[in-house]
Amino acid sequence: MLLPILRWPDPRLSVRCDPAVLDDGLRALAADMLETMYAAPGRGLAAPQVGHLLRLFVMDATWKEGTPAPQVFVNPEIVDLLGDPVVGPEGCLSIPGPVTQVARAPSVRMRWTALDGQAQDQVLTGFAAICVQHEYDHLDGILTLDHLSVEARAKAEAEVLA
Ligand code: ZN
Repeated sequence: MLLPILRWPDPRLSVRCDPAVLDDGLRALAADMLETMYAAPGRGLAAPQVGHLLRLFVMDATWKEGTPAPQVFVNPEIVDLLGDPVVGPEGCLSIPGPVTQVARAPSVRMRWTALDGQAQDQVLTGFAAICVQHEYDHLDGILTLDHLSVEARAKAEAEVLA
């Protein structure tokens, strides 16, 4: 089922989310979030973006290149940010319009629970590393706009509201 994606400045996008409980309801939500993400189209979607204030996000870093690899992250934790931050362009399905420049670690070690209940502990690199940092931010109510300078933020906000 396609879910409506909340758009900034919806206040639900600025809330620190609660831990998720892995049950049938959450599995159904994750499936709907993947469907919604592919339809958007995007590569990552966090639960608060569809109005569920839970620590859950979905990602597929490679489907746009023809190799779908859906992943569901339940209660993710960033264990370590590895390497010097690199500034790169980022869009967000909740902030249609501006592509913002955000500094992110090039690699990240993350722990989470997969949809089958298995505990995961992996180092992610490349696009996946940037994407999980972006989606993880959503779980703490942090948006790309919050990473910008006052001037860059004003410009990006004006672009969204135009
Ligand atoms: Zn986003």
